[in-house]
Amino acid sequence: MEENIKGRKKIYCDVCDTFISSEPLLVMHNNGKKHQRLLKAREDRKASTERSIYVRGFENKITLENDLNVYFSQFGKVSNIFVDKEKV
Ligand SMILES: [Zn+2]
Repeated sequence: MEENIKGRKKIYCDVCDTFISSEPLLVMHNNGKKHQRLLKAREDRKASTERSIYVRGFENKITLENDLNVYFSQFGKVSNIFVDKEKV
């Protein structure tokens, strides 16, 4: 990794996994489309992880999604149900 070029320390953006060569560029970078998109994707992923629960061990696969939706709706709005067909 090249952290020092001409004595100027580069700034690392761990959202984009990239180096920014100066602070004015960092401001531009942080407002840039790519950074914003990746940042939002990261936050969405984090938020959905924090709101997720994992359940397994069901036999009825046909109505499972609906059954889970009905059951967990009593605790709040169910935004997404992901059924891993291989592991149910
Ligand atoms: Zn970035």
